[in-house]
Amino acid sequence: MINPGRLDRGYEKYAPEYEKKALEVLRSGWYVLGREVEAFEQEFASFVGTKYCAGVANGLDALYLAFRALGIGKGDEVIVQANTYIASVMGITINGATPVFVEPDEYFGIDPEMTEKAITGKTKAVLAVHLYGLSCDMEKISGICKKHGLKLVEDCAQSHGAAFEGKMTGSFSDIGCFSFYPSKNLGCFGDGGAIVTDSEEYLKKIKMLRNYGSAKRYYNDEVGVNSRLDELQAGLLRVKLAHLEVLNRERDEIARAYLDGMKNPLITLPRIREGCNHTWHQFVIRCKKRDELMKYLKDRDIGTIIHYPVPPHLQKAYGYLGKKKGDFPIAEEMADEVLSLPVYNGMTSDEIRTVINAVNNWQ
Ligand SMILES: *Cc1c(COP(=O)(O)O)cnc(C)c1O
Repeated sequence: MINPGRLDRGYEKYAPEYEKKALEVLRSGWYVLGREVEAFEQEFASFVGTKYCAGVANGLDALYLAFRALGIGKGDEVIVQANTYIASVMGITINGATPVFVEPDEYFGIDPEMTEKAITGKTKAVLAVHLYGLSCDMEKISGICKKHGLKLVEDCAQSHGAAFEGKMTGSFSDIGCFSFYPSKNLGCFGDGGAIVTDSEEYLKKIKMLRNYGSAKRYYNDEVGVNSRLDELQAGLLRVKLAHLEVLNRERDEIARAYLDGMKNPLITLPRIREGCNHTWHQFVIRCKKRDELMKYLKDRDIGTIIHYPVPPHLQKAYGYLGKKKGDFPIAEEMADEVLSLPVYNGMTSDEIRTVINAVNNWQ
């Protein structure tokens, strides 16, 4: 079985380094918010090209805390693309703010023109989601936010190492939000997340909120949350971060082999936005008969995943927004057509060839 979610090969590649670090942390006697977290925060900020980073418990918390630090809540609108993962939207709505969906562009990123059209008197921010490992059009999106005085947040949960014209995703916005869920390109061995920012004010606020609203121990300024990154995850993330470029390059080689080798008129291959590097968190093809292709591949022991079958505006959880089928036809068509083919670190050339041949032989 070629399993798109397999993570063991990526672990094995650097197993001795991970194991050494894990033992070091276990033996240190300090397990939450300590030396490893601080070192990781510095290294990750420097990787992204921002002044600061704060580790948090997961990607959803990063988004939630970002909007909270920006003072966005009830009565405020945040523009976000309709084809994103549900967590992007929850980061907005947990704060009581209203998500305003817009259609994605052909690269699955937020569409700049639609974004500008969706601005109302209540709009406070734009959330750009760099879906599948490819940056949104950050030149246009940044420009629109500046022009209209809006805050900009980036959801970089799928874009570790992805850049737009040489500048890393996460460094374009007021606050960039990352997840280190195990399957992400920079995944840890449990849950983890981080925010990055150039603002000392937002950094301080989020560091305070992540620890029960306490800047000084046992003195609580706000009703915060418990959203801390632990030492073990931070230590292991430091090991992986040092190899992220190599790991992303390996994914790129797999994707290039797919792009060169796949020739089937029934499928549409992903395209790379000009001026961007794709980090291939997912290799997403489109196909009118997607479900048939998925079954065909499954019968040949090739696992695939749909990211995502139901767009947020049609989820039961967001029924209260009063949206219906047909409101965002581009995003809805994507949900019916997208299919993520296996791309994982440690994928063998035999496995790559098997996937290419299977896709090419399907009719
Ligand atoms: C994974 C993901 C998140 C949430 O991250 P968690 O760590 O699972 O909470 C948010 N947005 C996107 C686009 C994601 O892919």
